[in-house]
Amino acid sequence: MKKLLVSACLLGCRCRYDGKSCANENVIALKDRYELIPVCPEQLGGLPTPRNPSERKDGGVFMNDGTDVTKAYRKGAAESLYLARTLGVQKALLKAKSPSCGKGLIYDGSFTGKKIEGNGVTAELLLENGIEVFTEDELAVFAEENA
Ligand code: SF4
Repeated sequence: MKKLLVSACLLGCRCRYDGKSCANENVIALKDRYELIPVCPEQLGGLPTPRNPSERKDGGVFMNDGTDVTKAYRKGAAESLYLARTLGVQKALLKAKSPSCGKGLIYDGSFTGKKIEGNGVTAELLLENGIEVFTEDELAVFAEENA
């Protein structure tokens, strides 16, 4: 079976900032076709759960109380890349719009729900290193390309 790096919250882990998961049955069902490798970059970066929500802004990542958490986000991204490389993973399916895992569209740093073009810190590092990244919003595309 091919390996697939997956955001742990999509598999039902309660690793989100609010201590909840965002389990997605269609993502979980991929276990029949892939060896799923769960990662939560924010936890891998050393952040606690629950934690304040964060968004990318001005090249960094900040909590809604202004705390600069850029280093933790970068560490989580590096650890995720390490796992992907070490285990020979070529593709990732990550949580849309997250400041770590989002791809193509993320929150704009104002904590108002507004979104802008961009990638989460981990998605960005994986893409820079040749790993193909999809989100749960692209499951149809993922299924088509990996039929
Ligand atoms: Fe889910 Fe990624 Fe956020 Fe962890 S960092 S809770 S895996 S979206």
